[in-house]
Amino acid sequence: MISCDCIDTQLAQDELLVKYQYISDVLIALAYFSIPLELIYFVKKSAFFPYRWVLMQFGAFIILCGATHFISLWTFSLHSKAVAVVMTVAKSSCALVSCLTALLLVYIIPDLLSVKTRELFLKNRAEELDREMGLILTQEETGRHVRMLTHEIRSTLDRDTILRTTLVELGRTLGLEECALWMPSRTGITLELSHTLNHQIQVGSTVPRNLPIINDIFGTARATFLPYNCPLAGTRPVVGRHRPYEGVAVRVPLLHYSNFQISDWPDFSAKSYAVMVLILPTDSGRKWRDHELELVEVVADQVAVALSHAAILEQSMRARDQLLQQNVALDLARQEAEKAIHARNDFRAVMNHEMRTLMHAVIALSSLLLETELSPDQRAMIETVLKSSNLLTTLVDDVLDLSRLEDGSLELEIGPFNLHEVFREVINLIKPIASIKKLSMNINMAPDLPTYLIGDKKRLMQTILNIVGNAVKFTKEGYVLIKASVANPESSRDWRPEFHPASCNGHFYLRVQVTDSGCGILPQDIPFVFTRFVQSRSGSNRSTGGAGLGLAISRRFVNLMGGHIWIESEGLDKGSTVTFLVKLGICTTHQAVPKGRVNHGSADLSGHKQVFRDTDEVALSKTRYQRSL
Ligand code: ADP
Repeated sequence: MISCDCIDTQLAQDELLVKYQYISDVLIALAYFSIPLELIYFVKKSAFFPYRWVLMQFGAFIILCGATHFISLWTFSLHSKAVAVVMTVAKSSCALVSCLTALLLVYIIPDLLSVKTRELFLKNRAEELDREMGLILTQEETGRHVRMLTHEIRSTLDRDTILRTTLVELGRTLGLEECALWMPSRTGITLELSHTLNHQIQVGSTVPRNLPIINDIFGTARATFLPYNCPLAGTRPVVGRHRPYEGVAVRVPLLHYSNFQISDWPDFSAKSYAVMVLILPTDSGRKWRDHELELVEVVADQVAVALSHAAILEQSMRARDQLLQQNVALDLARQEAEKAIHARNDFRAVMNHEMRTLMHAVIALSSLLLETELSPDQRAMIETVLKSSNLLTTLVDDVLDLSRLEDGSLELEIGPFNLHEVFREVINLIKPIASIKKLSMNINMAPDLPTYLIGDKKRLMQTILNIVGNAVKFTKEGYVLIKASVANPESSRDWRPEFHPASCNGHFYLRVQVTDSGCGILPQDIPFVFTRFVQSRSGSNRSTGGAGLGLAISRRFVNLMGGHIWIESEGLDKGSTVTFLVKLGICTTHQAVPKGRVNHGSADLSGHKQVFRDTDEVALSKTRYQRSL
């Protein structure tokens, strides 16, 4: 027998191949078995997974595939019938399941694809929601910071505190390296650093107002990024080719600026801005984010509002201080006035009681002395004493009257009286003097004048006596004419432009006009003759012995009686006309007029005894008149 080596070699190669196949089948089987395990783990971990049963089927398919490979390990050598049966069952099951899976995949894949699409869509949506959520959170954070800053800034109304608080709070919130405020200087051509957080820029440094970057900042309400060499950020080292800092600036409107100008700041009535500069830490590599810029812009506006509130407060505090000062001054003035009133009242009391009592004693004793035997010289001296005493008494009475008129304590004594009697009495008093001076004296009473009237007879007579007395006093020769009539509301002659009262029932206006041919009054003196203690410059006033009170008192009486008084004169030596109107009531029953109260006749005029009756006002009027003698 010939043995062949090539067959042996062939057999050895086949064995090697089988060996490799064997190892491969083991690995494939292991891989097949591991895949279902991984799938089971994946299904368990996944919260949502459709088509679980397909997966199970797929798992079975894989296991069976694995099983066929695994079983084939025994088929490389001679295998028993049992192995062949098992192998057949496994292979046919695998064929069945795999075909079933392949068929089902035709239906399932589109579904799986749509699930995948939906998953993708949901994923995108979730990302979008995440972004929105982030934005909301950022806005909320910005809002919170703004509220916090606003609260801090507005918690004070002091200008410097507001600015300092702003810088500190912004520095803390945004983690700034520097925060500074540039204010317009007094001249308006530069900006001056007024406040700084970390003093990296010198307070008091200035930059020109007309820099392009400043114009840019003023031109927008948004935050502006600063270039690396901007003078607003101060001098900073340049690091390599990169910007050494991340800085922004925003304008701060200065509302009501002129109102809170304090010494070192200028007065800009036009709209003006300050500049707030904010710098992030140089070495942090941080960049400005949108919400941070937004925060800076909102805070700049809040600072402007807080500053304007501070300005208004400062203004109102100044006004309050002024008011307080005024109140103090008013209080002082009131105290002074009260003191003056007390002094005047004291003076009046002294005048009323002490002086008048003494004067009356002098007059009485002088009168008594005159009735005794006297030498001509002694008589002349006593007569002078008497005359001077009378004049002094008149003056005291006038001053008292005026003082009572001025403080409003003098009230009219209204009652019925006979108008004709009043004029008769005036004539009786004046006529003797007029006769001595050789003046013609006439009275012209309108026939329609009512006889019985209601008013203050005493004050009316005092007024007429003052005016007629003046006419006689200031007339050397010629005449004195008295006219009395009812003022006619229709006739403009009876009224003055400044006085035109409406007529009313039961009343009328008595018009009294006294004309003389005396010395007259300079036109420029006319406005002053009714002022107390003022006398016209028309010649011999001083020699007449007046005190400049008669017309002042008369005007107040006339005013009290609801009337008006005025004087006219064409000039020096052209005579004068005094006219007055007073409102009087018309008395219907003449019985109401108390007859006994009025002094009649001229007998009292020559004597001096009537002045002793100091309660009798008519006598007072007569006394006053006697100074003209
Ligand atoms: P007096 O006591 O000085 O007369 P009056 O108040 O009565 O004071 O008058 C004020 C001034 O008005 C007088 O000083 C005088 O210069 C001027 N005056 C008043 N009445 C006349 C008049 N009829 N003619 C000229 N001047 C008069």
